[in-house]
Amino acid sequence: MGKSILIIEDEAKIVRTLRLYLEQAGYSVVPAADGAQGLAAFRHAEPALVLLDLNLPGSLDGLDVCRTIRRESQVPVIMLTARGEENDRIAGLEIGADDYIPKPFSPREVVARIRAVLRRTQLADEVPQVVEAAGIRLDLDRRTALLNGTEIELTAAEFDLLAVLMRHPGRVFTRAQLLDATRGEAYEGFERSIDQHVKNLRHKLETDPRHPRYILTVYGAGYKFAREDT
Ligand code: CA
Repeated sequence: MGKSILIIEDEAKIVRTLRLYLEQAGYSVVPAADGAQGLAAFRHAEPALVLLDLNLPGSLDGLDVCRTIRRESQVPVIMLTARGEENDRIAGLEIGADDYIPKPFSPREVVARIRAVLRRTQLADEVPQVVEAAGIRLDLDRRTALLNGTEIELTAAEFDLLAVLMRHPGRVFTRAQLLDATRGEAYEGFERSIDQHVKNLRHKLETDPRHPRYILTVYGAGYKFAREDT
């Protein structure tokens, strides 16, 4: 089954239709008929996206549900809104809903909007523009490095090597893995070249390069970036 979509909607006919179209499009569907059920299902199923009817029976309306979800998660929320709910629509967007679809809607349109929202949020997730740890800040777009707020000059290979290590603090990388991760830059492609890059990086980053605090040697294995809690 594909990504799961939570539908919080009390009109069974709408749920049935959406379910049919969404399952055809490769999603799995978790239905909930009121706000309380919806929040329970949200916490239990961890859906990739929530379709949320604003006008729900029971003590929690759609805006209450949206507000609670936002306090707990950045999951995309698309509101389903009826005529006369224009103010609620705006309120919903203000408390963090990602989009709304006015009723009546075509199920195809709903599937297309879900795809678009998921694509947008995935892109934002997958491409962190900045990596930051222990006073070092790498801007991956501009390829600049700051150490405690001061810019330091790194070669392309040094930058790539440091970025790989910093993305996974505490994880040990072998020289071969580091070489793979930094390939594409014009420098000597043998494993010992990694040692030279690390040496250069230490001279640029460390107060005492012989007792490094950032890039640590793991004897017989490779290198790792120090975790801040160790
Ligand atoms: Ca309703």
